[in-house]
Amino acid sequence: TRARYAALRDTPAVSRDGVRLSLQMNAGLLVDVSQLEAVGAEGIGLYRTEIPFLVRREYPDVDAQTELYGRILDSAGGRAVTFRTLDAGGDKRLHSFVHEVEENPALGWRALRIGLDQPAILRQQVRAMIQAAGERPVRIMVPMVATVDEFRAARAIVDLEIARAAARPEAMPSTISVGAMVEVPSALLAIDELAREADFLSVGSNDLLQFLFAADRSGERTANRYDPLSVLFLDAMRRIVEAGKRAGIDVSVCGEMAGRPLEALALSALGYRTLSMSAVSIGPVKEAILSSNINQLSDFILYSMKKKTGSLRNHLKSYLSDHR
Ligand code: PEP
Ligand code: MG
Repeated sequence: TRARYAALRDTPAVSRDGVRLSLQMNAGLLVDVSQLEAVGAEGIGLYRTEIPFLVRREYPDVDAQTELYGRILDSAGGRAVTFRTLDAGGDKRLHSFVHEVEENPALGWRALRIGLDQPAILRQQVRAMIQAAGERPVRIMVPMVATVDEFRAARAIVDLEIARAAARPEAMPSTISVGAMVEVPSALLAIDELAREADFLSVGSNDLLQFLFAADRSGERTANRYDPLSVLFLDAMRRIVEAGKRAGIDVSVCGEMAGRPLEALALSALGYRTLSMSAVSIGPVKEAILSSNINQLSDFILYSMKKKTGSLRNHLKSYLSDHR
């Protein structure tokens, strides 16, 4: 099967009925990025900036960050890279940063909350991303957005850095897009307003599932308890992609869900056209898309969501085995 996936490397992910998907990869270390060519990812849909911070003893300054982000952009060889700002806290505690002991770290002082309370952290990251890009486009994505106001505040911080860079002689990025992750239920409830403010959205389905069902994503008895292919969760995913369409912005999925073939097909059927996943998932997902009929599947899934409750997993599986 390895060879089979390798043979698909340069084949675009187009379904039998002509629906074109952009399959991108998630990365956090330079070694991940080096897989990009081999697996044929169209870009990096999620670069987790906290990962290199996690492995360092010292907190990297702007120069160190600029060098790191520059190397990521270089190894992506002209393909789009979406840098997510620091998603520290929760389960990701940095050695170089003082995290308070919290009763509920997943609900704690983390991610964008830290960035808004200590804007220097966010500003340094954004400054490094702009400097590293040179004239290349920059895509910045903020994690754990709970309210539209938080997103506006994050964008205001990015704007400060844009103004700072514009006052300097160096070249500016051709475009700077700022997107929001949708992974907190309160953002889902304000999705139309958020979609109007953001340049793009990306669903963090790992956290969205955890927070929607109030089930710890890392707990042994809780992690796989609720199915992302349940009508309820698919309906949440549908609302997000439809809000993106109304606002005319791109919406992707970058949680683990996007990297499983059955889930990826369901997401495509709901209208998602960009999926970001671990490098090893690109081959299997692409293979599933190449043999699928997305428009037909879309009719089936939307109809099933109206008629059924609970998980659609088995229902989808039998539909797909009947429609090969
Ligand atoms: C997610 O929450 O789905 C996500 C992509 O981000 P992380 O797994 O890093 O929280
Ligand atoms: Mg997340």
